Amino acid sequence: MPNVLDGQRIRDQILDELRPRVQALRDAGRPPGLAVVLAGHDAGSEIYVRNKQKACADLGIYSEKLTPPATVTTGELLTVIEGLNRRSDIDGILVQMPLPKQVDSRLVLEAVSAEKDADGFHPTNVGHLVANRPAPRACTPAGIMELLRRYEIPISGRHAVVVGRSDIVGKPMALLLMHANATVTVCHSKTADLPGECRRADILVAAMGRPAFVTRDFIQPGAVVIDVGMNRVTRREDVERIWRGDPAKLATLEKKGSVLVGDVDPLDMAELSSAYTPVPGGVGPLTIAMLMSNTVALAERGKWA
Ligand code: NDP
Repeated sequence: MPNVLDGQRIRDQILDELRPRVQALRDAGRPPGLAVVLAGHDAGSEIYVRNKQKACADLGIYSEKLTPPATVTTGELLTVIEGLNRRSDIDGILVQMPLPKQVDSRLVLEAVSAEKDADGFHPTNVGHLVANRPAPRACTPAGIMELLRRYEIPISGRHAVVVGRSDIVGKPMALLLMHANATVTVCHSKTADLPGECRRADILVAAMGRPAFVTRDFIQPGAVVIDVGMNRVTRREDVERIWRGDPAKLATLEKKGSVLVGDVDPLDMAELSSAYTPVPGGVGPLTIAMLMSNTVALAERGKWA
């Protein structure tokens, strides 16, 4: 039976280790502070932000939500960010993506001070990642590295294949695995033989945003499979195909109107891998834990977890 890599358990461990550090900061004068900028009314973003604020409240981190309207301009957002950069009670700033379409997201992300960059997206911090120097790291790949480390999954000398090359998941993931001495292959939509590349993976990370795309012919038996994808499937025939007619999943579809699935076929992954992250309950919980970790480390001024 493959080992299920339990993201919720690792998240709880990470948060429990942060509690005394938050307390020490509170005892020294004030709690760590995280500002979240949520522009407009994207339903998914509102849920993510609520969960992030809940995690802050649970840990005793001060959090503040700023909600500029959907009509906000780039200039107005830059003013908001500059105000947050100057505030001494705010250690971390997070700009929830996606921003309204009239806004220049790159300019806004780059306006966040590198010293308050809770998401690790600022070019200075990306540079530190490339050079393997301490700095806030992108939360999802950092969480995956914590999961692998805490489950004692060997990385050094193994072949890791990352499917996806986005700035927030694929690229930082590949760099972190390389720094941990894996031999890394990065695949994307122009990769010539995706199943063949994936089959060479001892550690396969799927971060493409394509529901259950990675099937049995992509998975080397015994591989460790990390499924980053978070996709909502709404068509009955897709739910039937992906879960082979599982009545429980069809009932979820009836009740909620959609079923969450990763980028990897869940049944093939459970059958063939030696260890895997389920969706939900795998990678998702770790992302928020690492955001908390980045915020606390920023408040400690450069002590990276
Ligand atoms: P992006 O859309 O930014 O990037 C997707 C990447 O996958 C691109 O590099 C793209 O290639 C590649 N890709 C897409 N289709 C194919 C294909 N058919 N074959 C090969 N490569 C392909 O997505 P993100 O990186 O932001 O997110 C990826 C997934 O992870 C999504 O499902 C997202 O919801 C999820 N996610 C989950 C998080 C969590 O906490 N669990 C956090 C962040 C994301 P190309 O560059 O050539 O276009």
